[in-house]
Amino acid sequence: MLQLVWFKRDIRLFDHQAIHHAVATGEKVLFMYIAEPSIWQAGDLAKRHLTFMQQSLEDIQQSLRKIGGELYVAIGEMESILDDIYKMYGAFRMHSHYEHGIQPTFDRDLRVKRWMHEHTCLWTEYADFPVVRGKNAPRRRDFLKEWIKEPILAIPRQVFSLSTVPNELTNDLTILESLQVPGEEKAIDIRGGEKEGIAYAKRFFEEKYMRYNIDMNKPYVAPSSSSIISPYLTWGNISLKSLMRAVQKHMKHLKQTANPSEYDFLFEQLKSFQARLEWRSSFVQTVENFPMMHIRSLDSRFEGIRHQNPELLNAYIKGETGFPFLDACMRSLQQTGWINFKQRAMLATFGCNVLLLDWRVVGKVLAHAFTDYDPGIHWKQMQLQSGIDPKHHIPMHNVIKQGKENDPKGEFIKLYIPELRHLDDTNIHEPWSLEINPYITPIIDLKQSMDDHKKLLYGIKKNGHASE
Ligand SMILES: Cc1cc2nc3c(=O)[nH]c(=O)nc-3n(C[C@H](O)[C@H](O)[C@H](O)COP(=O)(O)OP(=O)(O)OC[C@H]3O[C@@H](n4cnc5c(N)ncnc54)[C@H](O)[C@@H]3O)c2cc1C
Repeated sequence: MLQLVWFKRDIRLFDHQAIHHAVATGEKVLFMYIAEPSIWQAGDLAKRHLTFMQQSLEDIQQSLRKIGGELYVAIGEMESILDDIYKMYGAFRMHSHYEHGIQPTFDRDLRVKRWMHEHTCLWTEYADFPVVRGKNAPRRRDFLKEWIKEPILAIPRQVFSLSTVPNELTNDLTILESLQVPGEEKAIDIRGGEKEGIAYAKRFFEEKYMRYNIDMNKPYVAPSSSSIISPYLTWGNISLKSLMRAVQKHMKHLKQTANPSEYDFLFEQLKSFQARLEWRSSFVQTVENFPMMHIRSLDSRFEGIRHQNPELLNAYIKGETGFPFLDACMRSLQQTGWINFKQRAMLATFGCNVLLLDWRVVGKVLAHAFTDYDPGIHWKQMQLQSGIDPKHHIPMHNVIKQGKENDPKGEFIKLYIPELRHLDDTNIHEPWSLEINPYITPIIDLKQSMDDHKKLLYGIKKNGHASE
Protein backbone atom coordinates (compact mmCIF):
# COMPACT_ATOMS: atom_id res chain seq x y z
CA MET A 1 0.00 0.00 0.00
CA LEU A 2 1.21 3.51 -0.80
CA GLN A 3 2.55 5.45 2.20
CA LEU A 4 2.09 9.18 2.20
CA VAL A 5 4.13 11.65 4.25
CA TRP A 6 2.25 14.92 4.58
CA PHE A 7 4.61 17.74 5.60
CA LYS A 8 3.07 20.65 7.45
CA ARG A 9 5.09 22.67 9.98
CA ASP A 10 7.72 19.92 10.19
CA ILE A 11 10.01 20.58 7.22
CA ARG A 12 13.02 18.40 8.04
CA LEU A 13 14.23 14.82 7.66
CA PHE A 14 16.04 14.32 10.99
CA ASP A 15 14.05 12.98 13.96
CA HIS A 16 10.88 12.88 11.91
CA GLN A 17 8.42 10.27 13.13
CA ALA A 18 6.13 10.39 10.09
CA ILE A 19 9.05 9.70 7.73
CA HIS A 20 10.44 7.02 10.01
CA HIS A 21 7.17 5.08 10.20
CA ALA A 22 6.32 5.47 6.51
CA VAL A 23 9.76 4.28 5.38
CA ALA A 24 9.81 1.44 7.93
CA THR A 25 6.90 -0.21 6.08
CA GLY A 26 9.27 -0.91 3.16
CA GLU A 27 6.58 0.41 0.78
CA LYS A 28 6.80 3.23 -1.74
CA VAL A 29 6.48 6.65 -0.14
CA LEU A 30 4.99 9.83 -1.54
CA PHE A 31 6.45 12.91 0.22
CA MET A 32 4.31 15.98 -0.25
CA TYR A 33 3.65 19.51 0.90
CA ILE A 34 0.31 21.09 -0.01
CA ALA A 35 0.06 24.89 0.05
CA GLU A 36 -3.59 25.27 0.97
CA PRO A 37 -5.23 28.61 0.13
CA SER A 38 -7.62 28.15 3.08
CA ILE A 39 -4.59 28.27 5.41
CA TRP A 40 -2.22 30.59 3.56
CA GLN A 41 -4.93 33.14 2.82
CA ALA A 42 -6.58 33.04 6.25
CA GLY A 43 -4.94 36.39 7.07
CA ASP A 44 -2.25 35.60 9.62
CA LEU A 45 0.44 34.36 7.20
CA ALA A 46 2.53 36.54 4.89
CA LYS A 47 4.96 36.36 1.98
CA ARG A 48 7.87 36.21 4.43
CA HIS A 49 6.58 32.87 5.73
CA LEU A 50 5.99 31.47 2.26
CA THR A 51 9.56 32.34 1.29
CA PHE A 52 10.90 30.65 4.42
CA MET A 53 8.72 27.62 3.70
CA GLN A 54 9.91 27.41 0.10
CA GLN A 55 13.57 27.60 1.18
CA SER A 56 12.91 24.88 3.75
CA LEU A 57 11.27 22.66 1.14
CA GLU A 58 14.14 23.20 -1.31
CA ASP A 59 16.53 22.06 1.38
CA ILE A 60 14.71 18.82 2.16
CA GLN A 61 14.10 18.15 -1.53
CA GLN A 62 17.89 18.09 -2.03
CA SER A 63 18.32 15.82 0.98
CA LEU A 64 15.53 13.47 -0.11
CA ARG A 65 17.01 13.09 -3.58
CA LYS A 66 20.27 11.89 -2.02
CA ILE A 67 18.43 8.92 -0.50
CA GLY A 68 16.30 8.08 -3.52
CA GLY A 69 13.24 10.15 -2.67
CA GLU A 70 11.43 13.10 -4.20
CA LEU A 71 9.38 15.91 -2.75
CA TYR A 72 6.18 16.99 -4.47
CA VAL A 73 4.12 20.09 -3.89
CA ALA A 74 0.76 21.41 -5.02
CA ILE A 75 -1.40 24.45 -4.46
CA GLY A 76 -4.89 23.34 -3.52
CA GLU A 77 -7.08 22.05 -0.74
CA MET A 78 -6.06 18.78 0.88
CA GLU A 79 -9.26 16.86 0.15
CA SER A 80 -9.00 17.59 -3.56
CA ILE A 81 -5.34 16.45 -3.68
CA LEU A 82 -6.25 13.31 -1.72
CA ASP A 83 -8.99 12.62 -4.29
CA ASP A 84 -6.39 12.73 -7.07
CA ILE A 85 -4.00 10.41 -5.24
CA TYR A 86 -6.84 8.01 -4.44
CA LYS A 87 -7.94 7.91 -8.10
CA MET A 88 -4.44 6.89 -9.14
CA TYR A 89 -3.43 4.55 -6.30
CA GLY A 90 -6.54 3.53 -4.39
CA ALA A 91 -6.38 3.29 -0.59
CA PHE A 92 -3.21 4.58 1.07
CA ARG A 93 -1.87 5.29 4.53
CA MET A 94 -0.95 8.83 5.54
CA HIS A 95 1.57 9.93 8.18
CA SER A 96 1.94 13.46 9.57
CA HIS A 97 2.67 15.33 12.78
CA TYR A 98 -0.05 16.75 15.04
CA GLU A 99 -0.51 20.37 14.08
CA HIS A 100 -1.40 22.65 16.99
CA GLY A 101 -2.85 25.68 15.34
CA ILE A 102 -5.74 28.09 15.28
CA GLN A 103 -9.21 27.44 13.85
CA PRO A 104 -8.36 27.24 10.09
CA THR A 105 -5.85 24.39 10.56
CA PHE A 106 -8.04 22.77 13.20
CA ASP A 107 -11.03 22.78 10.80
CA ARG A 108 -8.88 21.56 7.92
CA ASP A 109 -7.67 18.63 10.01
CA LEU A 110 -11.28 17.71 10.78
CA ARG A 111 -12.15 17.79 7.07
CA VAL A 112 -9.14 15.62 6.23
CA LYS A 113 -10.08 13.20 9.01
CA ARG A 114 -13.57 12.89 7.54
CA TRP A 115 -12.17 12.33 4.04
CA MET A 116 -9.81 9.60 5.28
CA HIS A 117 -12.63 7.89 7.15
CA GLU A 118 -14.98 7.97 4.14
CA HIS A 119 -12.27 6.46 1.92
CA THR A 120 -11.21 3.89 4.54
CA CYS A 121 -7.66 5.21 4.55
CA LEU A 122 -5.59 5.31 7.73
CA TRP A 123 -4.05 8.55 9.00
CA THR A 124 -1.48 8.38 11.79
CA GLU A 125 -0.40 11.58 13.53
CA TYR A 126 2.73 11.82 15.69
CA ALA A 127 3.48 14.20 18.56
CA ASP A 128 6.26 16.56 17.52
CA PHE A 129 5.79 18.58 20.71
CA PRO A 130 4.96 17.72 24.31
CA VAL A 131 1.42 18.96 23.86
CA VAL A 132 -1.57 16.77 24.70
CA ARG A 133 -4.88 16.37 22.90
CA GLY A 134 -8.29 14.95 23.74
CA LYS A 135 -10.40 14.28 26.81
CA ASN A 136 -8.46 11.22 27.97
CA ALA A 137 -5.03 12.74 27.41
CA PRO A 138 -2.41 12.41 30.16
CA ARG A 139 -1.30 15.50 32.09
CA ARG A 140 1.10 17.54 29.96
CA ARG A 141 3.93 17.31 32.52
CA ASP A 142 3.65 13.50 32.62
CA PHE A 143 3.53 13.34 28.85
CA LEU A 144 6.66 15.52 28.59
CA LYS A 145 8.61 13.14 30.86
CA GLU A 146 7.91 10.22 28.52
CA TRP A 147 8.13 12.19 25.27
CA ILE A 148 11.64 13.48 25.99
CA LYS A 149 12.89 9.91 26.51
CA GLU A 150 11.68 8.70 23.09
CA PRO A 151 14.50 7.78 20.68
CA ILE A 152 15.86 10.42 18.31
CA LEU A 153 15.28 9.11 14.79
CA ALA A 154 18.03 9.11 12.17
CA ILE A 155 17.44 10.12 8.55
CA PRO A 156 16.63 6.95 6.57
CA ARG A 157 19.46 5.67 4.38
CA GLN A 158 17.15 4.89 1.49
CA VAL A 159 13.54 5.47 0.52
CA PHE A 160 11.45 3.98 -2.28
CA SER A 161 9.83 6.60 -4.44
CA LEU A 162 6.97 6.60 -6.89
CA SER A 163 7.64 6.82 -10.62
CA THR A 164 4.38 8.64 -11.42
CA VAL A 165 2.23 11.01 -9.42
CA PRO A 166 -1.05 12.80 -10.22
CA ASN A 167 -0.70 15.83 -12.51
CA GLU A 168 -1.69 18.19 -9.70
CA LEU A 169 1.57 17.40 -7.90
CA THR A 170 4.90 18.70 -9.12
CA ASN A 171 8.51 18.66 -7.97
CA ASP A 172 8.93 22.23 -9.23
CA LEU A 173 8.85 24.16 -5.96
CA THR A 174 8.75 27.54 -7.70
CA ILE A 175 5.00 27.09 -8.26
CA LEU A 176 4.59 28.15 -4.62
CA GLU A 177 5.55 31.67 -5.68
CA SER A 178 2.23 31.99 -7.51
CA LEU A 179 0.23 31.67 -4.27
CA GLN A 180 -1.24 35.03 -3.29
CA VAL A 181 -0.37 35.97 0.30
CA PRO A 182 -0.13 39.40 1.91
CA GLY A 183 3.13 41.28 2.33
CA GLU A 184 6.00 42.40 0.20
CA GLU A 185 8.80 40.18 -1.02
CA LYS A 186 11.56 41.59 1.19
CA ALA A 187 14.95 40.05 1.60
CA ILE A 188 15.39 39.07 5.23
CA ASP A 189 18.39 37.81 7.14
CA ILE A 190 16.98 34.46 8.21
CA ARG A 191 16.97 31.70 5.61
CA GLY A 192 14.81 28.59 5.91
CA GLY A 193 16.13 25.03 5.85
CA GLU A 194 17.11 22.10 8.02
CA LYS A 195 20.83 22.68 7.44
CA GLU A 196 20.44 26.36 8.39
CA GLY A 197 18.55 25.40 11.56
CA ILE A 198 21.29 22.99 12.60
CA ALA A 199 23.91 25.66 11.94
CA TYR A 200 22.02 28.15 14.17
CA ALA A 201 21.82 25.59 16.98
CA LYS A 202 25.51 24.75 16.65
CA ARG A 203 26.51 28.42 16.76
CA PHE A 204 24.42 28.93 19.87
CA PHE A 205 26.05 26.10 21.81
CA GLU A 206 29.57 26.89 20.60
CA GLU A 207 29.67 30.62 21.24
CA LYS A 208 26.42 32.55 21.65
CA TYR A 209 24.95 31.07 24.84
CA MET A 210 27.69 32.45 27.08
CA ARG A 211 26.01 35.85 27.31
CA TYR A 212 22.44 34.62 26.81
CA ASN A 213 20.84 36.05 29.99
CA ILE A 214 22.97 39.18 30.05
CA ASP A 215 22.18 40.38 26.53
CA MET A 216 18.68 39.04 25.86
CA ASN A 217 16.88 42.30 26.67
CA LYS A 218 19.19 44.58 24.72
CA PRO A 219 18.27 44.61 21.05
CA TYR A 220 21.68 45.90 19.89
CA VAL A 221 23.48 42.82 21.21
CA ALA A 222 20.65 40.26 21.54
CA PRO A 223 21.18 38.82 18.03
CA SER A 224 24.74 37.81 19.03
CA SER A 225 23.67 35.87 22.11
CA SER A 226 20.09 34.71 21.47
CA SER A 227 19.67 31.43 19.67
CA ILE A 228 17.34 32.81 16.93
CA ILE A 229 16.26 29.21 16.66
CA SER A 230 12.56 30.20 16.78
CA PRO A 231 11.90 30.20 12.99
CA TYR A 232 13.45 26.75 12.74
CA LEU A 233 11.28 25.41 15.57
CA THR A 234 8.18 27.10 14.20
CA TRP A 235 8.54 25.63 10.73
CA GLY A 236 9.88 22.35 12.06
CA ASN A 237 13.33 22.61 10.43
CA ILE A 238 14.72 21.33 13.70
CA SER A 239 13.14 18.90 16.14
CA LEU A 240 12.35 20.30 19.58
CA LYS A 241 13.16 16.97 21.18
CA SER A 242 16.62 16.79 19.64
CA LEU A 243 17.28 20.39 20.70
CA MET A 244 16.18 19.72 24.28
CA ARG A 245 18.39 16.65 24.35
CA ALA A 246 21.29 18.73 23.00
CA VAL A 247 20.84 21.14 25.93
CA GLN A 248 21.07 18.21 28.38
CA LYS A 249 24.20 16.98 26.61
CA HIS A 250 25.84 20.41 26.78
CA MET A 251 24.99 20.70 30.47
CA LYS A 252 26.74 17.39 31.14
CA HIS A 253 29.71 18.40 29.02
CA LEU A 254 29.97 21.69 30.89
CA LYS A 255 30.10 19.87 34.20
CA GLN A 256 33.03 17.80 32.99
CA THR A 257 34.99 20.54 31.27
CA ALA A 258 34.17 23.99 32.66
CA ASN A 259 36.48 25.90 34.90
CA PRO A 260 34.84 25.76 38.41
CA SER A 261 34.82 29.56 38.64
CA GLU A 262 32.76 29.78 35.44
CA TYR A 263 30.58 26.71 35.80
CA ASP A 264 27.64 28.18 37.75
CA PHE A 265 27.39 31.16 35.46
CA LEU A 266 27.52 29.15 32.22
CA PHE A 267 25.13 26.54 33.58
CA GLU A 268 22.62 29.30 34.37
CA GLN A 269 22.66 30.42 30.73
CA LEU A 270 21.82 26.92 29.51
CA LYS A 271 19.20 26.48 32.22
CA SER A 272 17.48 29.66 31.14
CA PHE A 273 17.45 28.54 27.49
CA GLN A 274 16.10 25.14 28.54
CA ALA A 275 13.29 26.79 30.52
CA ARG A 276 12.23 28.75 27.44
CA LEU A 277 12.12 25.64 25.29
CA GLU A 278 9.76 24.20 27.90
CA TRP A 279 7.60 27.35 28.03
CA ARG A 280 7.17 27.04 24.31
CA SER A 281 5.02 23.94 24.58
CA SER A 282 2.96 25.26 27.47
CA PHE A 283 1.98 28.20 25.26
CA VAL A 284 1.18 25.91 22.35
CA GLN A 285 -0.97 23.81 24.70
CA THR A 286 -3.23 26.79 25.43
CA VAL A 287 -3.96 27.24 21.73
CA GLU A 288 -4.47 23.52 21.29
CA ASN A 289 -7.15 23.82 24.00
CA PHE A 290 -8.64 27.04 22.61
CA PRO A 291 -8.10 27.40 18.82
CA MET A 292 -10.15 30.63 18.73
CA MET A 293 -7.33 32.35 20.63
CA HIS A 294 -6.63 34.60 17.60
CA ILE A 295 -10.18 35.98 17.54
CA ARG A 296 -11.86 35.74 20.94
CA SER A 297 -10.65 37.59 24.02
CA LEU A 298 -10.04 35.36 27.02
CA ASP A 299 -11.79 38.08 29.02
CA SER A 300 -14.81 39.21 26.99
CA ARG A 301 -15.32 42.35 29.13
CA PHE A 302 -12.53 43.97 27.10
CA GLU A 303 -14.37 43.50 23.80
CA GLY A 304 -15.32 46.69 21.96
CA ILE A 305 -13.08 49.12 23.87
CA ARG A 306 -10.28 49.36 21.29
CA HIS A 307 -10.60 51.40 18.13
CA GLN A 308 -9.66 51.32 14.47
CA ASN A 309 -7.35 54.22 13.67
CA PRO A 310 -5.68 53.82 10.26
CA GLU A 311 -3.41 56.82 10.83
CA LEU A 312 -1.98 55.56 14.12
CA LEU A 313 -1.78 52.02 12.74
CA ASN A 314 0.13 53.14 9.67
CA ALA A 315 2.67 55.10 11.74
CA TYR A 316 3.08 52.08 14.02
CA ILE A 317 3.64 49.63 11.13
CA LYS A 318 6.19 51.88 9.44
CA GLY A 319 8.07 52.67 12.66
CA GLU A 320 7.20 56.35 12.36
CA THR A 321 5.54 57.10 15.69
CA GLY A 322 8.13 59.68 16.72
CA PHE A 323 9.39 57.53 19.64
CA PRO A 324 12.93 56.61 18.55
CA PHE A 325 13.42 53.36 20.44
CA LEU A 326 10.01 51.97 19.51
CA ASP A 327 10.46 52.99 15.86
CA ALA A 328 13.92 51.42 15.72
CA CYS A 329 12.49 48.15 17.07
CA MET A 330 9.69 48.10 14.49
CA ARG A 331 12.00 49.00 11.58
CA SER A 332 14.49 46.37 12.68
CA LEU A 333 11.75 43.75 12.90
CA GLN A 334 10.36 44.66 9.49
CA GLN A 335 13.84 44.46 7.94
CA THR A 336 15.26 41.38 9.63
CA GLY A 337 12.18 39.30 10.52
CA TRP A 338 13.26 38.82 14.15
CA ILE A 339 13.45 40.75 17.41
CA ASN A 340 14.04 39.69 21.01
CA PHE A 341 11.24 38.92 23.50
CA LYS A 342 11.42 42.09 25.59
CA GLN A 343 11.00 44.33 22.58
CA ARG A 344 8.23 42.14 21.13
CA ALA A 345 6.36 42.66 24.38
CA MET A 346 6.96 46.41 24.16
CA LEU A 347 5.77 46.57 20.53
CA ALA A 348 2.64 44.61 21.41
CA THR A 349 1.71 46.61 24.51
CA PHE A 350 2.35 49.92 22.78
CA GLY A 351 0.04 48.98 19.91
CA CYS A 352 -2.69 47.47 22.10
CA ASN A 353 -2.57 49.43 25.36
CA VAL A 354 -0.99 52.78 24.55
CA LEU A 355 -2.43 53.35 21.05
CA LEU A 356 -5.44 51.25 22.10
CA LEU A 357 -5.65 49.53 18.72
CA ASP A 358 -7.50 46.23 18.38
CA TRP A 359 -5.22 43.45 19.67
CA ARG A 360 -6.17 41.25 16.70
CA VAL A 361 -5.03 43.92 14.25
CA VAL A 362 -1.76 44.54 16.11
CA GLY A 363 -1.33 40.77 16.40
CA LYS A 364 -1.64 40.37 12.65
CA VAL A 365 0.90 43.15 11.95
CA LEU A 366 3.42 41.44 14.21
CA ALA A 367 2.57 37.96 12.91
CA HIS A 368 3.33 39.11 9.36
CA ALA A 369 6.67 40.52 10.47
CA PHE A 370 7.87 37.62 12.66
CA THR A 371 9.56 34.96 10.51
CA ASP A 372 8.95 32.65 13.45
CA TYR A 373 5.21 33.38 13.59
CA ASP A 374 3.77 30.44 15.47
CA PRO A 375 0.03 30.66 16.15
CA GLY A 376 0.53 28.52 19.25
CA ILE A 377 2.81 31.06 20.95
CA HIS A 378 1.81 34.25 19.25
CA TRP A 379 -1.88 34.61 20.05
CA LYS A 380 -1.50 33.63 23.67
CA GLN A 381 1.29 36.22 23.96
CA MET A 382 -0.93 38.83 22.27
CA GLN A 383 -3.70 38.20 24.80
CA LEU A 384 -1.19 38.38 27.65
CA GLN A 385 0.47 41.56 26.44
CA SER A 386 -2.80 43.34 25.71
CA GLY A 387 -3.94 42.57 29.25
CA ILE A 388 -7.02 40.53 28.37
CA ASP A 389 -5.83 37.30 29.93
CA PRO A 390 -7.79 37.33 33.21
CA LYS A 391 -5.00 35.56 35.11
CA HIS A 392 -2.41 38.28 34.46
CA HIS A 393 -1.85 41.99 35.07
CA ILE A 394 -2.11 44.62 32.32
CA PRO A 395 1.37 45.38 30.94
CA MET A 396 2.06 48.97 29.94
CA HIS A 397 5.69 49.52 28.97
CA ASN A 398 7.01 53.05 28.80
CA VAL A 399 8.87 53.13 25.49
CA ILE A 400 11.19 55.95 26.56
CA LYS A 401 12.17 54.20 29.79
CA GLN A 402 12.65 50.93 27.91
CA GLY A 403 14.95 52.67 25.43
CA LYS A 404 17.06 54.23 28.19
CA GLU A 405 17.37 50.90 29.99
CA ASN A 406 17.98 48.60 27.04
CA ASP A 407 19.74 50.89 24.59
CA PRO A 408 21.37 53.45 26.91
CA LYS A 409 23.79 54.83 24.32
CA GLY A 410 21.23 54.78 21.52
CA GLU A 411 23.37 52.41 19.41
CA PHE A 412 20.35 50.41 18.27
CA ILE A 413 18.38 53.57 17.48
CA LYS A 414 21.26 54.88 15.37
CA LEU A 415 21.39 51.63 13.42
CA TYR A 416 17.80 51.99 12.20
CA ILE A 417 17.18 55.74 12.35
CA PRO A 418 20.11 57.35 10.54
CA GLU A 419 18.74 60.88 10.95
CA LEU A 420 19.40 60.60 14.71
CA ARG A 421 23.02 59.43 14.39
CA HIS A 422 24.44 62.81 15.35
CA LEU A 423 22.61 62.92 18.72
CA ASP A 424 24.27 61.99 22.00
CA ASP A 425 22.75 59.59 24.52
CA THR A 426 21.16 62.37 26.57
CA ASN A 427 18.93 63.51 23.69
CA ILE A 428 18.48 60.48 21.50
CA HIS A 429 15.58 59.00 23.48
CA GLU A 430 13.64 62.28 23.64
CA PRO A 431 14.70 64.35 20.63
CA TRP A 432 11.63 66.58 21.06
CA SER A 433 13.28 68.12 24.12
CA LEU A 434 15.84 69.79 21.81
CA GLU A 435 15.11 73.28 20.59
CA ILE A 436 14.44 71.88 17.11
CA ASN A 437 13.27 68.27 17.00
CA PRO A 438 15.31 66.53 14.26
CA TYR A 439 12.81 63.66 14.20
CA ILE A 440 9.08 63.01 13.65
CA THR A 441 6.76 64.71 16.15
CA PRO A 442 5.33 62.00 18.46
CA ILE A 443 1.91 60.85 17.27
CA ILE A 444 0.47 60.84 20.80
CA ASP A 445 1.07 62.34 24.22
CA LEU A 446 2.70 59.28 25.78
CA LYS A 447 2.08 60.05 29.45
CA GLN A 448 -1.51 61.08 28.89
CA SER A 449 -2.32 57.99 26.80
CA MET A 450 -0.67 55.68 29.30
CA ASP A 451 -2.52 57.24 32.25
CA ASP A 452 -5.90 57.26 30.47
CA HIS A 453 -5.64 53.74 29.17
CA LYS A 454 -4.30 52.32 32.42
CA LYS A 455 -7.36 53.75 34.14
CA LEU A 456 -9.67 52.40 31.46
CA LEU A 457 -8.19 48.90 31.35
CA TYR A 458 -7.81 48.46 35.11
CA GLY A 459 -11.33 49.81 35.59
CA ILE A 460 -12.65 47.03 33.38
CA LYS A 461 -10.49 44.44 35.08
CA LYS A 462 -11.65 45.45 38.56
CA ASN A 463 -15.25 46.52 38.03
CA GLY A 464 -16.21 45.26 34.59
CA HIS A 465 -16.36 48.87 33.32
CA ALA A 466 -14.04 51.88 32.98
CA SER A 467 -13.26 53.88 36.18
CA GLU A 468 -14.57 57.45 36.40
C1 LIG B 1 3.81 39.54 21.49
C2 LIG B 1 4.73 38.36 21.35
C3 LIG B 1 4.58 37.50 20.29
C4 LIG B 1 5.43 36.39 20.14
N1 LIG B 1 5.24 35.59 19.06
C5 LIG B 1 6.06 34.53 18.88
C6 LIG B 1 5.90 33.70 17.74
O1 LIG B 1 5.02 33.91 16.90
N2 LIG B 1 6.76 32.66 17.59
C7 LIG B 1 7.74 32.39 18.51
O2 LIG B 1 8.51 31.43 18.32
N3 LIG B 1 7.87 33.15 19.60
C8 LIG B 1 7.08 34.21 19.83
N4 LIG B 1 7.24 34.99 20.94
C9 LIG B 1 8.14 34.53 22.03
C10 LIG B 1 9.61 34.98 22.00
O3 LIG B 1 9.70 36.37 21.89
C11 LIG B 1 10.40 34.31 20.88
O4 LIG B 1 10.22 32.92 20.93
C12 LIG B 1 11.90 34.57 20.99
O5 LIG B 1 12.15 35.94 21.05
C13 LIG B 1 12.58 33.94 19.78
O6 LIG B 1 13.96 34.18 19.79
P1 LIG B 1 15.02 33.02 20.08
O7 LIG B 1 14.73 31.85 19.23
O8 LIG B 1 16.37 33.61 20.01
O9 LIG B 1 14.64 32.67 21.57
P2 LIG B 1 15.49 32.07 22.76
O10 LIG B 1 15.51 33.07 23.85
O11 LIG B 1 16.79 31.55 22.32
O12 LIG B 1 14.56 30.88 23.27
C14 LIG B 1 14.60 29.58 22.68
C15 LIG B 1 13.22 29.17 22.23
O13 LIG B 1 12.33 29.11 23.35
C16 LIG B 1 11.02 29.51 22.95
N5 LIG B 1 10.65 30.74 23.67
C17 LIG B 1 11.48 31.73 24.06
N6 LIG B 1 10.79 32.68 24.71
C18 LIG B 1 9.52 32.27 24.72
C19 LIG B 1 8.32 32.83 25.25
N7 LIG B 1 8.31 33.98 25.92
N8 LIG B 1 7.17 32.16 25.06
C20 LIG B 1 7.14 30.98 24.42
N9 LIG B 1 8.25 30.40 23.89
C21 LIG B 1 9.41 31.04 24.05
C22 LIG B 1 11.08 29.79 21.46
O14 LIG B 1 10.72 28.63 20.76
C23 LIG B 1 12.55 30.12 21.25
O15 LIG B 1 12.99 29.87 19.95
C24 LIG B 1 6.43 36.13 21.11
C25 LIG B 1 6.57 37.00 22.19
C26 LIG B 1 5.74 38.11 22.31
C27 LIG B 1 5.92 39.04 23.47
